[in-house]
Amino acid sequence: MSSLTTDRIRDHATKLGLTHLTEVVTQLVERPENAQMGYLDFVDLLLEEELGLREGRRFRNALKLSGLPHHKSLDDFDFAFQPDLDARKVRDLATLEFVKAKSNVVLLGPPGVGKTMLAVALAIGACQARFSIYFTTLDDLVRRLRAAEATGRFKRQLQVYLRPAVLVVDEVGYLPLDQAKANMVFQLVSRRYERGTMIITSHKSFAEWGGVLGDDVLATAILDRLLHHCDVLNINSPSYRLKDRLNLVTGGESMPRSPRRDRHIRSYTNRHTR
Ligand code: ADP
Ligand code: MG
Repeated sequence: MSSLTTDRIRDHATKLGLTHLTEVVTQLVERPENAQMGYLDFVDLLLEEELGLREGRRFRNALKLSGLPHHKSLDDFDFAFQPDLDARKVRDLATLEFVKAKSNVVLLGPPGVGKTMLAVALAIGACQARFSIYFTTLDDLVRRLRAAEATGRFKRQLQVYLRPAVLVVDEVGYLPLDQAKANMVFQLVSRRYERGTMIITSHKSFAEWGGVLGDDVLATAILDRLLHHCDVLNINSPSYRLKDRLNLVTGGESMPRSPRRDRHIRSYTNRHTR
């Protein structure tokens, strides 16, 4: 291809907003395996490359803005470690039908059993499928809403939590909320009701939510909307964190060996025992 033609293609592609096409067009033409390609196949390949690169960039940016604490996926989750957890139910959730139906998921269980990890993995799957996502802890959410209220920006801040198709609210129940904050949570839950998905994690049972969300009446109103269309996953198996600790202390192998778990234990150990 003459440099004049290349320059013109580059120019046209830029004007059309096909930003990646300018990068890949020369490479694609020069690839020997493309030499015998028909025109239509080549155009198809070109557009596919453009779309792929664009999609990759969208995904990376969306993850960056999502507030997710890490980017572990369901493939990283060791189901053998949580035999009580219904793996099939999790795989069903991973099809994201619940996101399309704008229904919710609540993950309950003691600390360290993988609630946050599963919530993150489902959110990443949703992001991959082009749903908008946002992650926050409940404490952070109410703190920000409170601060926004004090400066007259409550509505705008609430929009941050209303806009995404999937909102993850992590760690419900660590700090009890006063009436004003619980009211904000009620506003959020009722405005997202049947309009968008929430994925919620908590180490408290629903019966204890009254103590967390100000009072029983408010908690009932919140739970009523949250649970109307909702999958609840109870994880009551041992803590993955604690398991790692016990293995470190005893060097014991009370569970059957699993390469994936070993890999996690190694990376966990590296991160936490420096
Ligand atoms: P929780 O939110 O229930 O307190 P986390 O999701 O934060 O627990 O899990 C604690 C740590 O253990 C995280 O680093 C997480 O990635 C890891 N973890 C938990 N369960 C599993 C599992 N079944 N397979 C792989 N890693 C896990
Ligand atoms: Mg957690």
